[in-house]
Amino acid sequence: MNVVDVLNHFNVDFQEYSASASAKCISVNCPFCPSGDTGKHLGIFRDKGNFSCYKCGERGGLFKYIREVKGITWSQFEAFTGTKQYTGESILENVKKIFEKPEEISTAINPDINIVGLVPADHAKYKAVLRFIEERRFDYTLLAFFKTQWCLSGPWMNRLIIPLPPPYITKKPLCYAARSLSPRNDPRWLFTEDSRHHNILYYNNHPKNNWKRLTIVEGIFDAWAIPDLAVCIFGTELSPTQLLSLQKDFGAQNIPVRIILDGDAPVKAHKLKEKLSSFFSSIEVIYLESNQDVSSCWANRERMDLFNV
Ligand SMILES: [Zn+2]
Repeated sequence: MNVVDVLNHFNVDFQEYSASASAKCISVNCPFCPSGDTGKHLGIFRDKGNFSCYKCGERGGLFKYIREVKGITWSQFEAFTGTKQYTGESILENVKKIFEKPEEISTAINPDINIVGLVPADHAKYKAVLRFIEERRFDYTLLAFFKTQWCLSGPWMNRLIIPLPPPYITKKPLCYAARSLSPRNDPRWLFTEDSRHHNILYYNNHPKNNWKRLTIVEGIFDAWAIPDLAVCIFGTELSPTQLLSLQKDFGAQNIPVRIILDGDAPVKAHKLKEKLSSFFSSIEVIYLESNQDVSSCWANRERMDLFNV
């Protein structure tokens, strides 16, 4: 069980990952802010469930938050989380203990591919990783959120190894993307299975969480830059499998869709819209300048309108 399971169970409205907040936190509205808060300024730490509001400073444990917004009792909370088995000093201590068991970082790499020398990428001592984070203006903890690893030796050396789909969609990845952070490595992107990624939708957040819109982008880092729900389709075209999965994930909801491809692909964006128009009734194509993509806009603070939620 993790914090997200508990929030889902009690129907709490939350934003799993936000580019403006630390990836350690899940963003929610704050019921304690005097003026009421719809900006999701309260962060719930995903490791222990304790929270803190950036705006009014209120702090506490997960139960206190859910009681405040959903009016649940301790016994309802306890019945779902099984907190009783822990005998800490306080309710807060007990709730923390549920989440304290660290999740293992998956190192189960596709056995067909020999990737050696993997370490979790969220470590400050790897300069290339740090530079990448700074240049892209990503939060440092985001690499841990997406369970990204860094390869120190062998043929995949100096590449970020990214599990596909992300760990909150499937525990066991279908394949891995490997992005070179060294200009000497060619090509920049490699995949552990040649074309499998064309059958995968790479969501930056869990798609089932009542999002107000869906943004379709070309690359993984574009998806990472979008603060609400985005999906990377690995290029400018949707494969039949990807199209079917999109329909399966959103068919009944009729979520508004934005298409933002790299600036050099305006015709392809238009074709994509046509392809999607039988499934989605509201589709907006956003065109960028020819030298722009979503992730460069985020990094260079251009087109900041794209990142408003
Ligand atoms: Zn507050």
